[in-house]
Order: sequence, then structure tokens, then C-alpha cells
Amino acid sequence: MRQILVLSGKGGTGKTTVAGTFARLAAACVTADCDVDAADLHIILEPEPVERKKYYGGKKASIDAAKCVRCGRCREVCRFEAVSAGPYRISPHACEGCGVCAWNCPAGAVIFKETLSGTWGISASRFGVFAGARLEPAEENSGKLVATLKTAAVKAAAAAGAEYLILDGSPGIGCPVLASLGGVSAVVIVAEPTVSGRHDFMRLAELLKQQGLKGFLLVNKYDLNKEEAVRLEAAAAGFGFSLLGRVPFDAGVVKALLARRTLGEVAACPAAEAVETAWRRLRAELEK
Ligand code: SF4
Ligand code: SF4
Repeated sequence: MRQILVLSGKGGTGKTTVAGTFARLAAACVTADCDVDAADLHIILEPEPVERKKYYGGKKASIDAAKCVRCGRCREVCRFEAVSAGPYRISPHACEGCGVCAWNCPAGAVIFKETLSGTWGISASRFGVFAGARLEPAEENSGKLVATLKTAAVKAAAAAGAEYLILDGSPGIGCPVLASLGGVSAVVIVAEPTVSGRHDFMRLAELLKQQGLKGFLLVNKYDLNKEEAVRLEAAAAGFGFSLLGRVPFDAGVVKALLARRTLGEVAACPAAEAVETAWRRLRAELEK
């Protein structure tokens, strides 16, 4: 089983559209939406839930008013300004779960316990098993959730005998991206030809280099700025990336997404053809 991780230097480059289209082209595969902070792959795959589980991402503090002696120590030591005075209360949205207030409370009035941060689960989609998660607003520790989700997806792929595990990763270079890198066979970065697109691509490429991973570049909307597309491709070559292809700006993408479908499912279009060509190239590279 080969793991293909689709990433982007920033959000909105077309990463999820490409990952969903790869899932369609891979036929017998397992797909996982590892972009848990802004999950949206389910919109075009429309999976039916099979199993849901609760996710506890970390601990948060609250105050037992009956035990509180109103000394104010918790407010003094909290570096996140999560504690308000009179009566003393802790905002669950501001609390970072460091536990310092619980250690310092002389009356044992701080309750410090695990909180429900979201859910994750396995679903059935028209392209096979789908693993997805939902993180509640303002919840953190998304890297831990990605690791949980990925472990489940790898297990599901092994059980299904899937040839591919397609992972829609998070944008950027943060914790959820790092959590998605383990065991991948190929990383595809979808980038747009802009100055900021190239900058964000290079940050991510540098991260992959540090991790000893070789990547592939897919340039989206390359024809909106052909000069910048050339610069982007040159930067990718500098990192030893292979170019998977160039996807043109195409109204067919909007039509497919409005129909909640992957590229090429509703109708053939130039962008769908470019992603199909990229998929064939990627498969050929992986089979070398
Ligand atoms: S440190 Fe404990 S006793 Fe003091 S105000 Fe905070 S919760 Fe109340
Ligand atoms: S757990 Fe940490 S962040 Fe939360 S209220 Fe206590 S000191 Fe502040």
C-alpha cells in the first residue's frame, strides 16, 4: 500500500480538489482528510458515516466555586489571561491547558480534566473507505488528531487491501502537517504561481527536505502568471522535486465543485485532464 500525501504551502490552492480527484482515479483506495482544522474533503466525497469516536485532545481547567477561597493565585499565574476575577472563572476558549493554576491553587479548587475536542471516524464513500474528523471550534492539538486519524486510515487500508492511501493534508508547515508525514510514499504539493505561493511552497519544500522526503509539484492555475509559474518550477527543481504537471485556470473546476463532485466526474474539462495526467505520472514514478 502506498501513501500519497497532498499538501500546500497555504490554504485555497486546490489541494483538496486534487486529493479528491486522485481518490477517484485511484479506484480501490482509502482516503483520509488530515486537514482536521478545516476539513472539507467530505463535501465532494459525501461519505456515509460507519463508525464515530470521541476525540479528547487535552486538558482544560475550571474552578469549583464551593472550594475556591478567592486568593487570586490562579489569575496571577495564568499567562494566557484565561482567569477572570470575582467570582473567579476560567474561560474554556482562552485556557491553553497548561495546568499551572491547578498546581498553584492552595485550596484544590481547580478542576483539571480532559475535554472533548472533537470526533473522528470511518465512513463509506463512493471511492472506498473514508477517514475523517471534526475538531470543535477553538480546539487545538490537531496534530494528535491527525496521528489518530492516520493510524485508523492505515489500518483500514491494510484491511481493505487497498493499493493507495490518499491523504489530504493540512496547509502550511505546522504540527498537523508534521503528523501526516510518517510513512508516506510521495508528497504532492499543489501551488499557485504567485510570489507568496512560491514563498509558501519553499517553506514546505524545506520541511520535506529536512525530513528526507522527496516531493512532486503540481502547479495550479499556471496560466494566470506564466512567468511566476516558471520561477515556481525552478524553485521546485532546486529542491529536487519532479514536476507532475500544470493545471490551467478552468471554469470546469467551479462546475464540478458546485455539483460536489471531483474533477472529471461531471464533465471532462482541461483541468480534469491535467490532474489525470499528473496522476498517471505519479503512478509511473511510484512504480519505478
Ligand atoms: S487559586 Fe484556587 S482558591 Fe485561589 S482563586 Fe484560584 S481557584 Fe480560587
Ligand atoms: S490551565 Fe493554564 S491556561 Fe488554563 S487557566 Fe490554568 S494557567 Fe491558565
